Amino acid sequence: MFDITPYPTFSWSLSRHKTLTSCARKYGYEYYFSHNGWLSYNVEPFHQHVYRLKKLQSMPILFGQIVHRFIEQAINDYLQTGKPPSLEELIHWARGQLNAAFVDSTRHFELWRQKPTKYYMMQEIYYNGMLNPELIQDYKERLRLVFNHFLMSETFRQITAQKGSLRIGEPEQFRSMKIDDIQVFVVMDFHYYDELTDKWVIVDWKTGSESDDDRQQLALYAYYVQQKYRVSLEQIEVYNEYLLTGKRKKYVFTDIDMDNILYTFQRSVLEMKKYQADIFSNEPLDIEDFEQTLEKWHCRGCNFRELCEQI
Ligand code: SF4
Repeated sequence: MFDITPYPTFSWSLSRHKTLTSCARKYGYEYYFSHNGWLSYNVEPFHQHVYRLKKLQSMPILFGQIVHRFIEQAINDYLQTGKPPSLEELIHWARGQLNAAFVDSTRHFELWRQKPTKYYMMQEIYYNGMLNPELIQDYKERLRLVFNHFLMSETFRQITAQKGSLRIGEPEQFRSMKIDDIQVFVVMDFHYYDELTDKWVIVDWKTGSESDDDRQQLALYAYYVQQKYRVSLEQIEVYNEYLLTGKRKKYVFTDIDMDNILYTFQRSVLEMKKYQADIFSNEPLDIEDFEQTLEKWHCRGCNFRELCEQI
């Protein structure tokens, strides 16, 4: 049972930081004005509206979530049964979820409006009324590519070759740590301890292209593992598995990277605090005080654009 609070609890994550960097108004919608929007009564319709928009999923986001979910399930099932799923099974399961999202988005608008956490709504369908056939074809082809590369990946091959000597880290949803007394969420895909090499291995599966942010994200994960298990950076190996291309990239971090990530965190928290009307309750400033970005290309893929267009 959750307590109903007037304002959300302040916390930090890299995605929160990136949202604020892209657009303060979007940050306000995502992290403040959607709060309590999941309630069906005793809440202003504005917050319900913002919350519904927050729950829209664009095709790349939905695709990434579904692929990550089945990869996690495939690894867990393998560890329990010793049997890896086939490529066709993975494609079949993921395609089923994508189809369910399409059906919800096109036929269950009212149900989604009432219960936006229980039903899917694709951002493209919400705003354009349809999915571009080329986009559908593109993602159909991506499904085969990403699962094939997952099954062939060095990470999955190591899991299947050394099952007995790997200690798998706790599931994604429980990962958080405190820095300067602030809850920091770390949405890490997969990590394990390899007894044979005495190394902690962090793996991040990517369903999109390589990005400049990848290194920073992995540095935060390395910091988390370093703190949580009290190990040195030399004992931590960090990889991106790019599932579209099959490329595996290894990162080597030093204390300078850890200092940089802490510096980013501290600067980012200071920036976020500017939008609090009350630092104790985390009450936000008025929505108008969260500036809209001037870089309008951010708006093209933004879930909240109908709110900004009304202004
Ligand atoms: S539509 Fe543009 S200005 Fe409005 S919240 Fe989104 S990114 Fe910001």
